[in-house]
Amino acid sequence: IERTLVLVKPDGVQRGLTGTILSRIEAKGYRLAELKQVEASRELLEKHYEEHVGKPFYEPLVEFMLSGPVVAAVFEGHRVIEGFRSLAGTTDPTIAAPGTIRGDFGRDWGVKVQQNLVHGSDSAESAEREIGIWFA
Ligand code: ATP
Repeated sequence: IERTLVLVKPDGVQRGLTGTILSRIEAKGYRLAELKQVEASRELLEKHYEEHVGKPFYEPLVEFMLSGPVVAAVFEGHRVIEGFRSLAGTTDPTIAAPGTIRGDFGRDWGVKVQQNLVHGSDSAESAEREIGIWFA
């Protein structure tokens, strides 16, 4: 069975959207397999975001992810990776389609990093790698 790592980022937790976000994923039909709230360390975030090292938004992204608790979850189901990315909407919340998590609840707050509420793995390989980091 395919698995994906979902993170409710600090903006989502701080705004009280954790339940709403998890509930949309469950309502779509995916099974919640693991769930926890964590204060991520810089070391953990550097591993998670290693592919973005050197990009202009890398440091603001790590700082943002350190700014408050994150909720980490594993969801399971056929094609859940693709399915969750469709539920989440495109990266930029200003233009994410209404009906998606980012499109319904996100906007541009005029800061350096896109505060876009959620993360979802982008491939089976990254899902297994990321689940290993967050649920070691
Ligand atoms: P995620 O990996 O978090 O699900 P994604 O695949 O849509 O999101 P990535 O390209 O992997 O986006 O970027 C990781 C995160 O970095 C984004 O979710 C966003 O918070 C931030 N980010 C990406 N691109 C930019 C950018 N051009 N400017 C500011 N922040 C960005």
